[in-house]
Amino acid sequence: MKYTEYGTTGKQVSVVGFGGMRFDTSLPKEVNAELLHHANASGINYFDTAPGYCGDQSEDIFGEAFKDMPGQFYASTKGSPESFDTADKARDAVRRSLDRLGLTKLDFYHVWCLRRMDHYDLAVRAGGQYEGLLRCQEEGLIDHIVCSSHQPGQDVVKILSKDEFEGVLLGVNILNFPYRWDGLLAAKEKGYGVVAMNPLGGGAIPRHEDAFSFLAQPGETPTEAALRFVIGCPYIDVGLVGFATKEHIDTACKVAESATEMGSTELDALRANLTENLDQICTSCGYCRDCPKSIPIPSYMQYYNERVMFGKTDEEMRKGIQGQYRWGVLVDCDVRPEECIECGKCEEACTQHLPITQRLADLAEWGKEE
Ligand code: SF4
Ligand code: SF4
Repeated sequence: MKYTEYGTTGKQVSVVGFGGMRFDTSLPKEVNAELLHHANASGINYFDTAPGYCGDQSEDIFGEAFKDMPGQFYASTKGSPESFDTADKARDAVRRSLDRLGLTKLDFYHVWCLRRMDHYDLAVRAGGQYEGLLRCQEEGLIDHIVCSSHQPGQDVVKILSKDEFEGVLLGVNILNFPYRWDGLLAAKEKGYGVVAMNPLGGGAIPRHEDAFSFLAQPGETPTEAALRFVIGCPYIDVGLVGFATKEHIDTACKVAESATEMGSTELDALRANLTENLDQICTSCGYCRDCPKSIPIPSYMQYYNERVMFGKTDEEMRKGIQGQYRWGVLVDCDVRPEECIECGKCEEACTQHLPITQRLADLAEWGKEE
């Protein structure tokens, strides 16, 4: 296993982390805890959980494992500013997590799931969650306050510019990294830690290995290539994988052993490879941002990418879109696709020559409430 410093915290973290959101909860707690022991014995020392994961059993599974971990480890958990909207509630949540994990201190505590700037505003308002977390830090209950964000790169840049958080957890992977790139660069420039969640595109890459074979180098699978990206990307400290089996842990550890840091030439080649092989996908270049109706086109095209990459049906796109408006890439999209006046400006500017107006019309259709 390789290790790197999480931002400038002085903590040497493994480049592969264990995300506790994919346990098989039909198994006894002790069996899942063994998975964590296997990961730790294999060199993984960054362990991330949250209340609510796996039917709210994840923190208890970690607590079981932490009783007798084979090696040194760092524990990370989370609390949402919406659920814990006062300093007192935030402190109670930290104490509850500590109890469940059987720990006296958390190494990393995330202000969880920032999806819009008003979630951030809620977290840092006077008397809010962040204030409670600062108190926990003074009391020695938390080492580092960090955040997790599902926002576009520019919003992450805005949040990190306030210097309240020491690191950020971002949904970034080999397929969507151009969309998160500004945030990655800003975090690194300021010396913050970056953890990448969802490195396998929510399981899409292992499920569609044929479609993504172009990502792989000779002798590796697309899944291994995706792991190699989060491990080798110089702007990511930890690639967080939701492990469900010992074999998955062994594969990630094997990739970590051989992965080398990617340089700008390799990253540019990867971007070009995405553009060439998925020439109908939006690469988030942002050249279409000058829309007279202020439609956030790159966000809409990000969601449309799922249609192109995974061949999703109308029904699947329709089912998914409301969740995207609530939780996903469309959460900040107050101007709806039906506002498009078909002026054609964006299509002229589009580096991928995408039929943007037609795609917006499809999105408007999928987004109609039943
Ligand atoms: S065609 Fe529609 S989306 Fe494109 S720039 Fe014009 S109004 Fe905006
Ligand atoms: S110009 Fe085209 S490829 Fe670039 S962000 Fe806009 S829609 Fe995507």
